Amino acid sequence: MQPILSCRDVRVSFNGFQALQGVDLEVKPQEVRFLIGPNGAGKTTLLDVICGKTKASDGDVLYRQVENIRKLQEHEIVRLGITRKFQAPSIFANLTVWENLELSLKQERGLWSVMRAKMTGEDKEKMEAMLSRIGLMDQRHQLAGMLAHGQKQWLEIGMQLMQDPEILLLDEPIAGMSGTERHKTGELIHEISTACSVLIVEHDMEFVRNFSKQVTVMHEGKVLCEGTMSEIQQNEQVAEVYLGR
Ligand code: ADP
Repeated sequence: MQPILSCRDVRVSFNGFQALQGVDLEVKPQEVRFLIGPNGAGKTTLLDVICGKTKASDGDVLYRQVENIRKLQEHEIVRLGITRKFQAPSIFANLTVWENLELSLKQERGLWSVMRAKMTGEDKEKMEAMLSRIGLMDQRHQLAGMLAHGQKQWLEIGMQLMQDPEILLLDEPIAGMSGTERHKTGELIHEISTACSVLIVEHDMEFVRNFSKQVTVMHEGKVLCEGTMSEIQQNEQVAEVYLGR
Protein backbone atom coordinates (compact mmCIF):
# COMPACT_ATOMS: atom_id res chain seq x y z
CA MET A 1 0.00 0.00 0.00
CA GLN A 2 1.30 3.47 -0.89
CA PRO A 3 2.04 5.79 2.04
CA ILE A 4 -0.33 8.67 2.74
CA LEU A 5 2.53 10.64 4.32
CA SER A 6 6.23 10.50 3.46
CA CYS A 7 8.87 12.55 5.23
CA ARG A 8 12.05 12.51 3.20
CA ASP A 9 15.39 13.69 4.52
CA VAL A 10 13.66 16.22 6.79
CA ARG A 11 16.05 18.59 8.54
CA VAL A 12 15.38 21.19 11.19
CA SER A 13 17.92 23.53 12.65
CA PHE A 14 17.37 25.81 15.67
CA ASN A 15 20.06 28.51 15.65
CA GLY A 16 22.60 26.09 14.26
CA PHE A 17 21.51 23.13 16.43
CA GLN A 18 20.38 20.24 14.21
CA ALA A 19 17.23 18.93 15.92
CA LEU A 20 16.32 16.78 12.90
CA GLN A 21 19.21 15.49 10.85
CA GLY A 22 17.55 13.91 7.81
CA VAL A 23 14.46 12.02 8.95
CA ASP A 24 12.69 9.55 6.65
CA LEU A 25 9.30 8.34 7.82
CA GLU A 26 6.31 6.82 6.06
CA VAL A 27 2.77 6.48 7.33
CA LYS A 28 0.37 4.19 5.49
CA PRO A 29 -3.39 4.75 5.21
CA GLN A 30 -5.21 3.58 8.35
CA GLU A 31 -1.96 2.74 10.09
CA VAL A 32 -1.29 3.32 13.78
CA ARG A 33 2.39 4.22 14.08
CA PHE A 34 4.15 5.01 17.33
CA LEU A 35 7.09 7.38 17.51
CA ILE A 36 9.33 6.64 20.47
CA GLY A 37 12.81 7.62 21.61
CA PRO A 38 14.62 9.31 24.48
CA ASN A 39 13.96 12.93 25.40
CA GLY A 40 15.46 15.28 22.87
CA ALA A 41 15.34 12.68 20.06
CA GLY A 42 13.28 15.01 17.86
CA LYS A 43 9.83 13.37 18.07
CA THR A 44 7.90 16.55 18.89
CA THR A 45 9.87 18.52 16.32
CA LEU A 46 8.90 15.97 13.67
CA LEU A 47 5.19 16.29 14.56
CA ASP A 48 5.65 20.08 14.52
CA VAL A 49 7.05 19.86 10.98
CA ILE A 50 4.21 17.62 9.76
CA CYS A 51 1.51 19.95 11.11
CA GLY A 52 3.31 23.09 9.88
CA LYS A 53 4.15 24.56 13.30
CA THR A 54 7.87 24.34 12.60
CA LYS A 55 9.33 24.78 9.14
CA ALA A 56 11.94 22.28 7.99
CA SER A 57 15.13 23.79 6.63
CA ASP A 58 15.42 20.97 4.11
CA GLY A 59 13.69 17.82 2.89
CA ASP A 60 10.16 17.04 1.74
CA VAL A 61 6.90 16.21 3.47
CA LEU A 62 4.71 14.53 0.88
CA TYR A 63 1.02 14.09 1.52
CA ARG A 64 -0.92 11.59 -0.61
CA GLN A 65 2.31 11.13 -2.63
CA VAL A 66 2.01 14.34 -4.61
CA GLU A 67 1.49 17.32 -2.37
CA ASN A 68 4.60 18.77 -0.73
CA ILE A 69 3.25 20.38 2.45
CA ARG A 70 6.60 21.40 3.90
CA LYS A 71 6.08 25.11 3.36
CA LEU A 72 2.33 25.29 4.03
CA GLN A 73 0.78 27.12 6.97
CA GLU A 74 -0.82 25.18 9.85
CA HIS A 75 -4.41 26.04 8.84
CA GLU A 76 -3.75 24.96 5.25
CA ILE A 77 -2.45 21.59 6.47
CA VAL A 78 -5.53 21.11 8.68
CA ARG A 79 -7.75 21.78 5.70
CA LEU A 80 -5.88 19.18 3.67
CA GLY A 81 -6.69 16.56 6.34
CA ILE A 82 -3.87 16.46 8.89
CA THR A 83 -4.85 17.43 12.44
CA ARG A 84 -2.85 17.50 15.65
CA LYS A 85 -3.86 17.04 19.23
CA PHE A 86 -1.35 18.52 21.60
CA GLN A 87 -0.67 17.02 25.02
CA ALA A 88 -2.50 19.68 27.04
CA PRO A 89 -6.22 19.74 26.23
CA SER A 90 -7.30 22.86 24.38
CA ILE A 91 -11.04 22.53 24.81
CA PHE A 92 -13.34 25.42 25.69
CA ALA A 93 -13.95 24.86 29.41
CA ASN A 94 -17.00 27.15 29.61
CA LEU A 95 -18.82 25.52 26.72
CA THR A 96 -20.64 22.21 26.96
CA VAL A 97 -19.32 19.03 25.40
CA TRP A 98 -21.91 19.39 22.62
CA GLU A 99 -20.95 23.04 21.98
CA ASN A 100 -17.26 22.13 21.76
CA LEU A 101 -18.00 19.54 19.09
CA GLU A 102 -20.35 21.93 17.31
CA LEU A 103 -17.65 24.57 17.15
CA SER A 104 -15.21 22.11 15.59
CA LEU A 105 -17.75 21.06 13.01
CA LYS A 106 -18.43 24.65 12.01
CA GLN A 107 -14.79 25.65 12.07
CA GLU A 108 -14.13 22.95 9.51
CA ARG A 109 -16.36 24.87 7.12
CA GLY A 110 -14.58 28.20 7.52
CA LEU A 111 -14.54 30.67 10.38
CA TRP A 112 -17.00 33.06 8.76
CA SER A 113 -19.84 30.67 9.29
CA VAL A 114 -19.20 29.81 12.93
CA MET A 115 -21.61 32.31 14.42
CA ARG A 116 -24.55 31.95 12.09
CA ALA A 117 -24.37 28.51 10.54
CA LYS A 118 -27.36 26.36 11.40
CA MET A 119 -26.99 22.69 12.15
CA THR A 120 -28.60 20.30 9.69
CA GLY A 121 -30.11 16.96 10.67
CA GLU A 122 -27.04 15.32 9.17
CA ASP A 123 -24.77 17.48 11.34
CA LYS A 124 -26.65 16.42 14.46
CA GLU A 125 -26.34 12.77 13.50
CA LYS A 126 -22.61 13.23 12.99
CA MET A 127 -22.29 14.88 16.40
CA GLU A 128 -24.29 12.13 18.11
CA ALA A 129 -22.23 9.43 16.43
CA MET A 130 -19.08 11.20 17.64
CA LEU A 131 -20.42 11.48 21.20
CA SER A 132 -21.00 7.75 21.38
CA ARG A 133 -17.64 7.04 19.72
CA ILE A 134 -15.77 9.05 22.37
CA GLY A 135 -18.01 7.75 25.17
CA LEU A 136 -19.42 11.16 26.18
CA MET A 137 -23.09 10.85 25.22
CA ASP A 138 -24.23 11.13 28.84
CA GLN A 139 -21.98 14.14 29.40
CA ARG A 140 -23.08 16.10 26.31
CA HIS A 141 -24.73 18.90 28.32
CA GLN A 142 -21.91 19.16 30.87
CA LEU A 143 -19.42 21.99 30.79
CA ALA A 144 -16.22 20.66 29.27
CA GLY A 145 -14.22 22.15 32.14
CA MET A 146 -16.02 19.83 34.57
CA LEU A 147 -15.03 16.62 32.77
CA ALA A 148 -12.50 14.16 34.18
CA HIS A 149 -8.99 14.32 32.71
CA GLY A 150 -9.48 11.35 30.37
CA GLN A 151 -12.85 12.65 29.17
CA LYS A 152 -11.28 16.01 28.26
CA GLN A 153 -8.71 14.19 26.14
CA TRP A 154 -11.40 12.15 24.38
CA LEU A 155 -13.44 15.28 23.75
CA GLU A 156 -10.45 16.91 22.12
CA ILE A 157 -9.82 13.84 19.99
CA GLY A 158 -13.51 13.99 19.02
CA MET A 159 -13.09 17.66 18.10
CA GLN A 160 -10.20 16.76 15.80
CA LEU A 161 -12.22 13.93 14.25
CA MET A 162 -15.14 16.27 13.50
CA GLN A 163 -12.82 17.74 10.86
CA ASP A 164 -12.63 14.32 9.10
CA PRO A 165 -8.83 14.09 9.08
CA GLU A 166 -6.92 11.51 7.08
CA ILE A 167 -4.03 11.71 9.52
CA LEU A 168 -4.33 12.39 13.24
CA LEU A 169 -1.18 13.35 15.16
CA LEU A 170 -1.28 12.62 18.89
CA ASP A 171 1.19 13.79 21.50
CA GLU A 172 1.32 11.41 24.50
CA PRO A 173 -2.45 10.81 24.50
CA ILE A 174 -2.52 8.72 27.71
CA ALA A 175 -0.31 10.98 29.87
CA GLY A 176 -1.86 11.37 33.33
CA MET A 177 -4.63 8.81 32.67
CA SER A 178 -5.83 6.04 34.97
CA GLY A 179 -5.58 2.38 33.89
CA THR A 180 -9.21 2.31 32.76
CA GLU A 181 -8.83 5.57 30.84
CA ARG A 182 -5.72 4.23 29.10
CA HIS A 183 -7.58 1.12 28.07
CA LYS A 184 -10.49 3.16 26.69
CA THR A 185 -8.08 5.45 24.85
CA GLY A 186 -6.43 2.39 23.28
CA GLU A 187 -9.82 1.17 22.08
CA LEU A 188 -10.67 4.61 20.71
CA ILE A 189 -7.39 4.78 18.77
CA HIS A 190 -8.04 1.31 17.34
CA GLU A 191 -11.45 2.44 16.19
CA ILE A 192 -10.17 5.72 14.74
CA SER A 193 -7.66 3.79 12.65
CA THR A 194 -10.42 2.11 10.69
CA ALA A 195 -10.85 5.42 8.85
CA CYS A 196 -7.71 7.47 9.52
CA SER A 197 -3.96 7.06 10.05
CA VAL A 198 -2.70 7.85 13.54
CA LEU A 199 0.86 8.90 14.36
CA ILE A 200 1.49 8.90 18.11
CA VAL A 201 4.41 10.18 20.18
CA GLU A 202 4.37 7.97 23.25
CA HIS A 203 6.62 7.35 26.24
CA ASP A 204 4.60 4.58 27.86
CA MET A 205 6.21 1.40 26.56
CA GLU A 206 3.56 -0.87 28.02
CA PHE A 207 0.88 0.98 26.06
CA VAL A 208 2.95 0.72 22.86
CA ARG A 209 3.65 -2.98 23.47
CA ASN A 210 -0.02 -3.80 24.07
CA PHE A 211 -0.91 -2.15 20.81
CA SER A 212 1.58 -4.31 18.86
CA LYS A 213 1.62 -1.87 15.96
CA GLN A 214 4.43 -0.33 13.95
CA VAL A 215 7.00 1.61 15.94
CA THR A 216 9.62 4.11 14.76
CA VAL A 217 12.51 4.76 17.14
CA MET A 218 14.20 8.14 16.97
CA HIS A 219 17.52 9.12 18.48
CA GLU A 220 19.50 12.35 18.17
CA GLY A 221 17.41 13.75 15.34
CA LYS A 222 17.40 10.58 13.22
CA VAL A 223 15.37 7.41 12.79
CA LEU A 224 17.28 4.63 14.50
CA CYS A 225 15.04 1.73 13.44
CA GLU A 226 11.50 0.63 12.74
CA GLY A 227 9.41 -2.48 13.32
CA THR A 228 7.03 -4.01 15.82
CA MET A 229 7.86 -3.55 19.49
CA SER A 230 9.20 -7.11 19.72
CA GLU A 231 11.38 -6.53 16.64
CA ILE A 232 12.88 -3.30 17.92
CA GLN A 233 13.53 -4.83 21.32
CA GLN A 234 15.92 -7.25 19.58
CA ASN A 235 17.83 -4.33 18.05
CA GLU A 236 21.21 -3.85 19.74
CA GLN A 237 21.39 -0.12 19.03
CA VAL A 238 17.95 0.44 20.55
CA ALA A 239 18.96 -1.53 23.62
CA GLU A 240 22.04 0.67 23.98
CA VAL A 241 20.61 4.12 23.43
CA TYR A 242 17.05 3.71 24.53
CA LEU A 243 16.46 0.81 26.83
CA GLY A 244 19.77 1.43 28.64
CA ARG A 245 21.25 -2.03 28.28
P1 ADP B 1 11.57 14.95 21.88
O1 ADP B 1 10.16 15.30 21.54
O2 ADP B 1 12.02 13.69 21.23
O3 ADP B 1 11.82 14.94 23.35
P2 ADP B 1 12.16 17.53 20.71
O4 ADP B 1 11.69 17.41 19.32
O5 ADP B 1 11.30 18.24 21.69
O6 ADP B 1 12.52 16.07 21.27
O7 ADP B 1 13.58 18.24 20.74
C1 ADP B 1 14.67 17.83 19.93
C2 ADP B 1 15.84 18.73 20.22
O8 ADP B 1 15.58 20.03 19.70
C3 ADP B 1 16.11 18.92 21.71
O9 ADP B 1 17.52 18.96 21.92
C4 ADP B 1 15.48 20.24 22.03
O10 ADP B 1 16.12 20.89 23.10
C5 ADP B 1 15.68 21.01 20.72
N1 ADP B 1 14.62 21.99 20.47
C6 ADP B 1 13.30 21.72 20.30
N2 ADP B 1 12.61 22.86 20.06
C7 ADP B 1 13.51 23.87 20.08
C8 ADP B 1 13.43 25.27 19.89
N3 ADP B 1 12.26 25.88 19.63
N4 ADP B 1 14.58 25.98 19.97
C9 ADP B 1 15.76 25.38 20.22
N5 ADP B 1 15.92 24.05 20.40
C10 ADP B 1 14.81 23.30 20.34
